[in-house]
Amino acid sequence: MKISLRTALILAILAIVLVGVVLAGTFMTRTLRAYINERAELELGAHSRAASLYVEQSLHSLEYRDADRIADRLGRVQELRVTILSKDGRVVGDSDVPTDKLAHLPDHENRPEFIAADRTGKGLAHRYSTTVERSMVYAAARFANDQVAGVVRVSRPVQEIEHALAILFASFLSGAVIILLLALLLATITSSYFMRTLRSMVAYAEGLAEGRRMTPWPSTTKELSGLKNSLQALSEKMEVAVRELADERDRFAAVLEGMTEAVIALSPDGRVTVINGAAIALLEPGPEPQGRTLLETVRAPALFSLIEQLLPGRRADTEFELNGLHPRTLLARAARLHSGACVLVLMDVTELRRLERVRRDFVSNVSHELRTPIAVVRANAETLADGALEDRDMAPKFLASILSNAERLSNLIADLLDIAKIEEGKFELHRERQNLSDALRRAATALETPATEKKQSVEIDAPEELDALVDLRAMDQILFNLLDNAVKYTEPGGRIIARARAENGFAIVEVEDNGPGIPEHHRARLFERFYRVDKGRSREMGGTGLGLAIVKHLVHAMGGEAGMRPAPIRGSIFFVRIPRAASTPSA
Ligand code: ADP
Repeated sequence: MKISLRTALILAILAIVLVGVVLAGTFMTRTLRAYINERAELELGAHSRAASLYVEQSLHSLEYRDADRIADRLGRVQELRVTILSKDGRVVGDSDVPTDKLAHLPDHENRPEFIAADRTGKGLAHRYSTTVERSMVYAAARFANDQVAGVVRVSRPVQEIEHALAILFASFLSGAVIILLLALLLATITSSYFMRTLRSMVAYAEGLAEGRRMTPWPSTTKELSGLKNSLQALSEKMEVAVRELADERDRFAAVLEGMTEAVIALSPDGRVTVINGAAIALLEPGPEPQGRTLLETVRAPALFSLIEQLLPGRRADTEFELNGLHPRTLLARAARLHSGACVLVLMDVTELRRLERVRRDFVSNVSHELRTPIAVVRANAETLADGALEDRDMAPKFLASILSNAERLSNLIADLLDIAKIEEGKFELHRERQNLSDALRRAATALETPATEKKQSVEIDAPEELDALVDLRAMDQILFNLLDNAVKYTEPGGRIIARARAENGFAIVEVEDNGPGIPEHHRARLFERFYRVDKGRSREMGGTGLGLAIVKHLVHAMGGEAGMRPAPIRGSIFFVRIPRAASTPSA
């Protein structure tokens, strides 16, 4: 059971007072008892001597005949029991015993007070009297005159002395009770005062602990004002420290939130303590990730195994795929602090890895594309050098092959340079209002020869006044590439229609053919560099696999988009969507 400090204080004070009272009482009672006993004995001794003098003068009969009467008289005067004993210890007179019973009393020759008085003149004894049946104090004195001798003994019940003591003890006890009550009152007042001060101190300290600004309690004692000053100084220091910590925390949070890298801090038991915005955006940990374990927060076992074995003071990194709606490649770096806490920094390297892959693929694609025509040119040249030059029938064929492959190489290099320029942003675009039907006519004219050779019809269906905000050169290149593909891949006798129309502030240009069309699974990658549906046919047609990639890049650079959909019956429709002039936002 817990008792309050106040109760403890009161009980302690009462206990101290009680011990003092009990000790003082015991000591006083003992001293008083000894004193009263001594006084009683002295008094009784004096009475016995006075009685012996009286007996000496009054008793003259040899037979102690008047002894009982003298004893009765003395007893009355002295208010004591008076016994007169003969020389041999026989009771010859007793104030408390009738004369006729005296003969039945036993002899007192062995009583200590008698023996002492007989020998030394006086004697004293405390004893239980069988005659009067109570504890008595006896004082005896010898008497002797010329006729008789004996001992006079006076006695008083011990009870009388005890009674006097009891009265004294009772008054002492009432004094003690008053002292105790006074002590209780004082203890209550003192403890109330201390408790009030203590409560103020506790309230002050609690306020400080909760970070509130507190008015100190009014201190009255030297020690408490010292404590007050210390607490005040402590609170001021705490305030400064808290402010500094808050600043530090704000700075840290600002840095953390400004970082593009995802940062997660984990406690030694693996729970998330800090997570920045980049980490939330990247890992989508769900609501309130703080306080949850890493496994509950992020579904990335690779992260868990990265930190699981990590010893304090060590670092480790790993790269892993984060599956989900948008799969990502993440580079994670973990550091375990000596406290056991762990800091994880994650970078999204998806784009970096994709670009690396694209570059690798590009280099291998370019090498591959270059190797074939160079090999053909070389083989043909070697054959000619080995004597085929003399062969009038074969030599022109070898030369024609050399020429067509050199042309292909030159086309390839021109396209590559174009793509490189567009990607680097060096392909300068001057966007101006251009008439689209004019542009379509220019492209159709440029392809007139191959189209005529293949007996294909090229129709243009575009309103005369339609124009768009485009770079002239880029637009010509786009339309040429689309029409060129239509002419190349559509069988002889095919029909090609180039259309243009306005739609919601955009100009839509479509090139439709009734050629072989493009199977659905190829469509998504059609606009990638070097992507071909039918490699053999493309090469045969002198294609580089870069035409549509150039179209896509140029259209994007002009704020538009390019795409393909199958034609209703047979063939393909390639389309581009380009913003019209800013002054004419709607059609
Ligand atoms: P290429 O130089 O090979 O023509 P492109 O990037 O212009 O390269 O075209 C990519 C591929 O798309 C071509 O190889 C071809 O297989 C296919 N393609 C493009 N246009 C057409 C079309 N009108 N009809 C059928 N296939 C086409």
